[in-house]
Amino acid sequence: MITATPLPRHLPATEAGSRSWQQAYAESISDPAELLRRLNLGTEWLAAAEAAAARFALRVPESFLARIQPGNIDDPLLRQVLPIGAELATLPGYSSDPIDEAAARRAPGLLHKYAHRALLITTGACALHCRYCFRREYPYAEESGDGARWQQAIETIVADASIREVILSGGDPLSLSTARLQHLTRMLAAAPHVRELRIHTRNAVVLPERVDSALLEWLRALPFRVTVVLHVNHAQELTGEAPTAIAALRSTGALLLNQTVLLKGVNDAAATLIELSRRLHELGVLPYYLHLQDRVNGTAHFEVGEARGIELIDAMARQLPGFLVPRLVREVPGEEAKVVVAAGLRRGTI
Ligand SMILES: *Cc1c(COP(=O)(O)O)cnc(C)c1O
Ligand code: SF4
Repeated sequence: MITATPLPRHLPATEAGSRSWQQAYAESISDPAELLRRLNLGTEWLAAAEAAAARFALRVPESFLARIQPGNIDDPLLRQVLPIGAELATLPGYSSDPIDEAAARRAPGLLHKYAHRALLITTGACALHCRYCFRREYPYAEESGDGARWQQAIETIVADASIREVILSGGDPLSLSTARLQHLTRMLAAAPHVRELRIHTRNAVVLPERVDSALLEWLRALPFRVTVVLHVNHAQELTGEAPTAIAALRSTGALLLNQTVLLKGVNDAAATLIELSRRLHELGVLPYYLHLQDRVNGTAHFEVGEARGIELIDAMARQLPGFLVPRLVREVPGEEAKVVVAAGLRRGTI
């Protein structure tokens, strides 16, 4: 393309004359009728979508919408964002806090469950709402650290010399402005024992506009070793502007990893997971965790059994180098780390 090609939207407004990430964020789709209309889908799904969205709102940025195949109700990206009737089911064994995060709470917005690592719930906001979200019922309003609340979490980190790594999570930490992130990391820099900063983000991929020059400057200037853990479930998410955003993150020198949630009807096929690993590798990102779904209310229709998960890892291990096989993990309350269920070939199958 030579002329009439719009400037890439991931560039910040000041550089590209295009939308800022805040505008892109604000213009996300939140009306189920609009989502169905934009994807040339009929209204037969509308009533259920509206009922489920009343409980956990629909939210899809334009950039992600553009990666969904119109007219395909089974599209693996659409399945992650379209509210459906099955979410309203109440099932035994499902709850609002299946992994007992409340027990790991050290201060408002601070979870300290594993040695040397503390996780900060920086915000409850995400650019995209994943229907399977394990924190969809988390009490963010009480927990997310704004202003004075961060203060207490930071003081706890500063006072605990065992904490080497701080994980910015949420919600999505990149829903916060770069100025606020900068403020937060300046406060963290007061703790000499904190050497590493980890950022768990899906926004960087689903709202690639967020990876603008201010964000990149902040990352480059941080006085910590930085790891960015992306959250991508399907290779089709790595189309559109996502690869450019990932390349920009890579240019900061951050280590890039990915976590995936194993989801029925989205990525519970060996070929799909293998393609995802290969595509991530092409973009300089290594697969880290493949999560077995936590039993959160309204997500049972996404559940893939442990035995099937092990089979999938086995199939991946037969086709991929070891570093492209993620660890299949499950969160078990009270354990000292995530429990690895499989990480390669099953013993005794060769
Ligand atoms: C997953 C998680 C971590 C990070 O675990 P790693 O194995 O280091 O990736 C830290 N804290 C909490 C509360 C977590 O849920
Ligand atoms: S990005 Fe993460 S926290 Fe946000 S809705 Fe999706 S799964 Fe939940």
